[in-house]
Amino acid sequence: MSKSFVDIDNARYDDQIQVMERIESADHCPFCEENLKKYHRQPILKKTKYWLVTTNQWPYEHTRWHFLIIYRQHIVKLSQLEPKAGEELFNLISWLEKEYQIPGGGLAMRFGDTNYSAGSVTHLHAQLVMPDLTDKDYQPVRIKIGKSVDQLKNKSRNK
Ligand SMILES: [Zn+2]
Repeated sequence: MSKSFVDIDNARYDDQIQVMERIESADHCPFCEENLKKYHRQPILKKTKYWLVTTNQWPYEHTRWHFLIIYRQHIVKLSQLEPKAGEELFNLISWLEKEYQIPGGGLAMRFGDTNYSAGSVTHLHAQLVMPDLTDKDYQPVRIKIGKSVDQLKNKSRNK
């Protein structure tokens, strides 16, 4: 099975796996705009020339906010980004910081081969995360980069 659009190994929840199995059999990209609306239930908060901003349907645990900032063209590598899109991305991030009164958090952009990125969708996107320090079960938010040794050994789902 092709890993060109999604990598189910990197899914984190059962219902996410179910959606990703549908995407895999349709063999299209869930983050390309014409497909996004088929799978993504969260509202689009903002759209600019290069990016659209929404929230993650499956936020990381212990987050107050988990935004997805999705590039509007289908690219998978950083080297395919238009330089002007970088400026726009940082403008968007500062808009989010102000709009949602985010006191601090993290920004991550994984890219390329999903064995190295541990991303579930290859289409280039950034994630802005604010941990929820008031969560009674609070733990630090961890963003994984690269598959685990077990995942690489088993290569279970994609073979
Ligand atoms: Zn795409």
